[in-house]
Amino acid sequence: VELTQAALKVLPPSVLKPAYARPVAKAYVDKYICHMGVGGFHRSHQCVYTDDLLNAQGSGGVRWGFCGIGLMDWDRKMYDTLKKQDYLYTVLSRSSKTNEARVIGSIVDFVFAPDDHQHCIDRLADPSTCIVSLTVTEKGYCQNSEGDLDTENPFVRADLDGNLAKPKTAIGMIVAALRQRRAKGVPSFTVLSCDNLPENGDKAKHCAWISANTTFPNTMVDRITPMTEQEHKDILARDHLILDGWPVIAEDFMQWVVENDFCLGCPEWDKVGVLMVNDVRPYEFMKLRLLNGGHSALSYMSILCGYTYVDDAMANADIAAYIGRLFHEVVPTLMSVPGVSAPEYCDKLIERFSNPYIKDKLMRLAEDGSKKMQNTMRDAILELQKRGLSTKVLALANAAWIRYCVGKDENGDPLEIKDPMAAALTKLAEHALADVKNPDPTEFLRQVHGQDLAACAGFVGEVKGHLRSMMSIGSKATLQAVIE
Ligand code: NAD
Repeated sequence: VELTQAALKVLPPSVLKPAYARPVAKAYVDKYICHMGVGGFHRSHQCVYTDDLLNAQGSGGVRWGFCGIGLMDWDRKMYDTLKKQDYLYTVLSRSSKTNEARVIGSIVDFVFAPDDHQHCIDRLADPSTCIVSLTVTEKGYCQNSEGDLDTENPFVRADLDGNLAKPKTAIGMIVAALRQRRAKGVPSFTVLSCDNLPENGDKAKHCAWISANTTFPNTMVDRITPMTEQEHKDILARDHLILDGWPVIAEDFMQWVVENDFCLGCPEWDKVGVLMVNDVRPYEFMKLRLLNGGHSALSYMSILCGYTYVDDAMANADIAAYIGRLFHEVVPTLMSVPGVSAPEYCDKLIERFSNPYIKDKLMRLAEDGSKKMQNTMRDAILELQKRGLSTKVLALANAAWIRYCVGKDENGDPLEIKDPMAAALTKLAEHALADVKNPDPTEFLRQVHGQDLAACAGFVGEVKGHLRSMMSIGSKATLQAVIE
């Protein structure tokens, strides 16, 4: 069955679907969250929580729904696909316990900005838009290494030079919409960043430069969401009889912690399991440093060892032990989190990484290392070094990344580097390994993690030692030596 609103009636009973009377689409929603970056993760996470809420609340209360915003030319495919399906799509949750297909209805509209920028600004400036949320990836914030707006970025330049008539960046679009709201006397919306950045709300605020009336709650978001592959569409068609142009595949775990700071209100997400708190940092530290840092560490070493999929790599006892050791090293830098035991959290992560039913790819985790490695590892390394605690495994993760950035594996076959800094990283990695007997990663580490870390002689020395070993006995043997 091709997925549309009308087709909901004829889907097999095994498929979960919206229990609310959705056909009226736009009119059904009272308040909008306009979301920039409608990819896999937004649709497996924020949309699911909001769909839970719409299901739970029936016809009463204030109804919130999403209007997708496509900013980039490449978002046209998502726009076309969702529009054809009345903005419905399927989430396929898979683990050893679950194989569930669920149609999500919380997106009720979509604006594709490149077709008409002013229409998009008008939509964001409309009084019914109370929240603008984002999952535009780490690089979508267009920050330089100091965390300021990167005015060298061509899209940022275009926004500044064009006076925001046709904003090309998420931040530019937000500023244009807030400017129009202010001119028309409409109060500001809340900006809700759901990207994996430490203090993501503060980062968005810093780049947007608007502090008087707008709020930027920090959030911690969690649900492993691989890229959609043809295989996932085939499973949906075979097991659940749904033909969906762009479903989402995800694990069965999900978590969302949000700072309670909304200038125009928010959905009652707390009723559907979202934790609304005053301070997100303890949760965010734990998740970013363990899950995201663990993912990055896992990706480069495992690709160098010849793996493609996350679960296959985790099935290798040495690699699983490496990730366990990495967690152990990082735990002393975490704040205590109410009701959460760090060892249990780590065990659960090992189980989640090992999930063989979602077929997450190591390449997805390896993307954009220049942002991810800094966001998830730098501060932990600096703190551990200062306290005289071990950074040996974190150093191995960085050595593997540097080795990877050369762009060739141990057989000399090409490795793809997907990163805005790809060319620079390869140059820096080649420089670091110019003398294989005496590698020098200092400049690489300075460029990606900053001077403070490059000045940590102990850590730089450890990375150097690991690199020397990798170049002489190979990645696998080096990994074994470190975990022994
Ligand atoms: P995706 O590739 O499916 O979607 C990314 C979206 O961001 C697309 O809509 C794309 O058009 C948009 N985008 C990319 N670059 C942009 C830019 N420069 N400006 C504006 N928009 C841009 O990826 P995803 O899996 O949805 O992940 C998106 C982000 O969500 C991640 O980078 C991460 O910060 C966060 N996240 C993802 C996961 C996960 O498991 N996938 C988990 C937690 C958090």
